[in-house]
Amino acid sequence: MLADYHVHTKLCRHAEGEVADYVRTAAAAGLDELGFADHSPWPVGYDAQSRMTEAEFPQYRAWVRDMQDCGGPVQIRYGIEADWVPGRMDEVFRHIDAEPFDYVLGSIHYTDELPFDDPSNAGRWQAQDQVDQVWRRYAELMLEMVRDGRIDILAHFDLPKKFGWRPSREAPFLESVDEIFRAAGERGLALEINTSGLRKPVSEIYPSLVVLKRACERGVGLTLGSDAHAPGDVAADFPAALDLARAAGFRELRTYRRRQFTGHRI
Ligand code: ZN
Ligand code: FE
Ligand code: FE
Ligand code: ZN
Repeated sequence: MLADYHVHTKLCRHAEGEVADYVRTAAAAGLDELGFADHSPWPVGYDAQSRMTEAEFPQYRAWVRDMQDCGGPVQIRYGIEADWVPGRMDEVFRHIDAEPFDYVLGSIHYTDELPFDDPSNAGRWQAQDQVDQVWRRYAELMLEMVRDGRIDILAHFDLPKKFGWRPSREAPFLESVDEIFRAAGERGLALEINTSGLRKPVSEIYPSLVVLKRACERGVGLTLGSDAHAPGDVAADFPAALDLARAAGFRELRTYRRRQFTGHRI
């Protein structure tokens, strides 16, 4: 069983290609399932330049349904990549709970006002004290998101490494990681191995082996995602992702249907 649970559509304004082309690549890669998880339009007005509008959302739903209805070899799943926006999650989940999503990815792309993973803002946090601050705040927000417990899968868990910038001390970060995964394990959450880091300056899969091992020890589940923003990136580097999963101790991958998961041996 192999599934890519993190691909985008051009509705997000920074992806390209037709949904049918994403499905075609998935079929060629031999995937059993492909899950669309485009950037959520909620909360309304948040980070509007890199996501569909609320008015475009029915188009997203229709595209995914069309792909589900074509009956090809790849099962299509209906997901969403939700941003954790402190103080506004009731609005987000009011919308999400009204949709028959198969799963919800939880993402953090902003530490408060700083879009830290946006290359055009990278100059704003290059100094080591700022880097440390981003990692610290990121871990706080991640813990908040996990304790809230309403998402299913933690996306690109160590995203602040995108430009290769690391915390000056690893130990405090790993302590937060353990606290996050303890809470995630208790709540039945999963995290993804996201191969898009290999296509970024850091040139590494998200998250690293040391982080994955800790997740596995705490009983956190696992999915795979390419984070494709172009059809050619669907299932990119999945052999490496599977090797990493096994090296970390994982023996199962999860699939989701209407927010319920099933484990599959890898
Ligand atoms: Zn994106
Ligand atoms: Fe993301
Ligand atoms: Fe994404
Ligand atoms: Zn992503």
